Amino acid sequence: MTNTSLAHVLDAARALHQATPLLSGFAPWPVDIMPAPVAPLHVPAADLVAALGLAAPARCRPFVDAIRAATAHAHWKRTYTEAEVGADFLARYGYFELFGPTGHFHSHQLRGYIAYWGEGLNYDWHHHEAEELYFVLAGSAEFLAEGSAPARLGPGQTRHHAANQPHAMVTHDEPVLTYVLWRGAGMADLPKMGRAA
Ligand code: ZN
Repeated sequence: MTNTSLAHVLDAARALHQATPLLSGFAPWPVDIMPAPVAPLHVPAADLVAALGLAAPARCRPFVDAIRAATAHAHWKRTYTEAEVGADFLARYGYFELFGPTGHFHSHQLRGYIAYWGEGLNYDWHHHEAEELYFVLAGSAEFLAEGSAPARLGPGQTRHHAANQPHAMVTHDEPVLTYVLWRGAGMADLPKMGRAA
């Protein structure tokens, strides 16, 4: 059985996704979603998300509240090693796969993550084959990508990364909570550090 608090996160994601052309235009809400048994896994950032005090706009708030209520049931991941990103980054960053090839809900059509970074972190250049859309739910971050102008984005704003386009992200005076979508070839992969594809 998938935890009911995670089902609430999925319901809130679907509601926002279907009501937001920037999201549904990137990919329609998947129709192959099935609950999958994935055990909870804690990381320090899960506690920061549970205690998150950032204001979110009304249309993002049900999703943010559902995420905060589900932090103890999510399988949190950190893709990188301490040698790659440092101890402070690992202590204040984390994500979980809500739906996708290895998510709490299984889908081969689309991958959806919930990802968090604390304030003052530098998520260095990385890349992956899957096309990506970031949607900021709360807080803000500066997004950098090769071939695109840097942009500081807040709640309700999106950033698209093409297949294999190197990108990076910096948080300044506040954390950022994001909904991240992957589609297309490489959807089941992990990102790799560095600029070279
Ligand atoms: Zn990415």
